[in-house]
Amino acid sequence: MKEINAADFQQEVLNGGKVVVDFYSTECPPCEALAPKFDAMAELYGEKIKFLKIFRQGNRELATELGVSSSPTLLFFENGKQILDTISGGIKKSEIVERLDKMLSTNEVTAIKANQKKTVSEYDVAILGGGPAGLTAGIYLGQAKIKTVLIDPALPGGYMGITHQVSNYPGFEKPQPGFMLAHFMSEQAKHTGIDFKVAVDITSVDLLKKEIVIDELETIKAKKIIIATGTTPNTMNAPGESDFKGKGISYCATCDAKYFVDKEVTVIGGGNSAVEEAQFITKFASKVTMIHQFDKLTANQTAIDELQKNEKISVMYEHEPRKFEKHGDKMITFVEDLKTNELKELESDGVFVFIGFKSNVAVLGKNLPEMNNWGYILTDEDMKTSIPEVFAIGDIISKKYRQITTAVADGTIAAITISKEI
Ligand SMILES: Cc1cc2nc3c(=O)[nH]c(=O)nc-3n(C[C@H](O)[C@H](O)[C@H](O)COP(=O)(O)OP(=O)(O)OC[C@H]3O[C@@H](n4cnc5c(N)ncnc54)[C@H](O)[C@@H]3O)c2cc1C
Repeated sequence: MKEINAADFQQEVLNGGKVVVDFYSTECPPCEALAPKFDAMAELYGEKIKFLKIFRQGNRELATELGVSSSPTLLFFENGKQILDTISGGIKKSEIVERLDKMLSTNEVTAIKANQKKTVSEYDVAILGGGPAGLTAGIYLGQAKIKTVLIDPALPGGYMGITHQVSNYPGFEKPQPGFMLAHFMSEQAKHTGIDFKVAVDITSVDLLKKEIVIDELETIKAKKIIIATGTTPNTMNAPGESDFKGKGISYCATCDAKYFVDKEVTVIGGGNSAVEEAQFITKFASKVTMIHQFDKLTANQTAIDELQKNEKISVMYEHEPRKFEKHGDKMITFVEDLKTNELKELESDGVFVFIGFKSNVAVLGKNLPEMNNWGYILTDEDMKTSIPEVFAIGDIISKKYRQITTAVADGTIAAITISKEI
């Protein structure tokens, strides 16, 4: 692994055979998450492919020239030409391996794979999930000097990272951007000394044996496991929905609303998320039409009162989406009027879906703890599940209110219970 500057680019990259370049920045959590993976890849593939790092802030002109606009970004070169697609952000090991393998012959790849060593590491506690629940458990366990690892297929923060503004988390006079809250919590957890394994692929989880395999090769054995894997937004399974996911249909206003400046948007749903996100979308869009199956919104009254003051938003009550089509740049949502069964066509520039969530239990292997009828894990007051030494916290458990404060409370309870037991 070598660090270079713009001045070395011609010699090291363009004249350099097969090369992968990491444009990194400081104070960049995804860059920190990538660094150990990039080092491990360099050790494995280093004889065939050159691994280089460039500090993006110090080499801005070159970065701009190469179209690098975020950190970290990996670029791949062969004989002076850029090849393959670039990858950036929370880069997984499997995404790098996939591209490196394409740069080599089958025999070379087979030889490299034969050299890969499996590792086993042992911890007192493994936390699955780095949202507010998992991070809080990590903070308490780290401060109690309990050997802990926090594992997440994404970057830490969970839903906080994609929430525009959080106004109800105590301790902040003014609303906080969700990503900042995620950053503060994750840095606080890191400073306690716990290990972070983030942006990894979760290969398997065995809750009975307390073994988690990540990136296919690394086995993590723990005395106790805390499940904090949260939820995933529900989809409608209406025809066209999966075809236009990310191409006209979005599930994240924080991520995508900015692309709808002065455009018209359709929002599906009428609960808290839908109402709050519709409000947020009007910062950009000129008009938002909400489609809601009931005759009243089901959000809290304060959110409804705010929504009713917003002239950009109108609600089609007692309507349900049945099908999505794209005509040119326009999304067409076919909605059924539930009173008359009439099918109407609603044209907009984009559709946002906020219709509830399902728990992320599918990734937890074959032996699952007891759950309620909706797939949320049942726990006792110490956050213990029906499987010995397995705890569950946050949105994934059966409970009435799913908020950052309640997730944080669950994480606290599980961690203090564990600290007393270990
Ligand atoms: C759009 C939106 C806005 C919200 N606004 C607010 C608000 O303003 N105030 C408030 O209090 N609450 C708000 N909430 C609710 C709040 O964000 C959640 O209640 C809270 O984040 C739950 O925390 P959690 O740690 O249980 O789960 P999450 O935040 O969902 O985090 C779960 C983590 O687990 C990871 N994970 C998933 N699968 C696996 C796996 N197999 N192995 C390991 N890790 C895995 C995920 O990548 C994620 O990082 C909002 C929610 C949404 C969706």
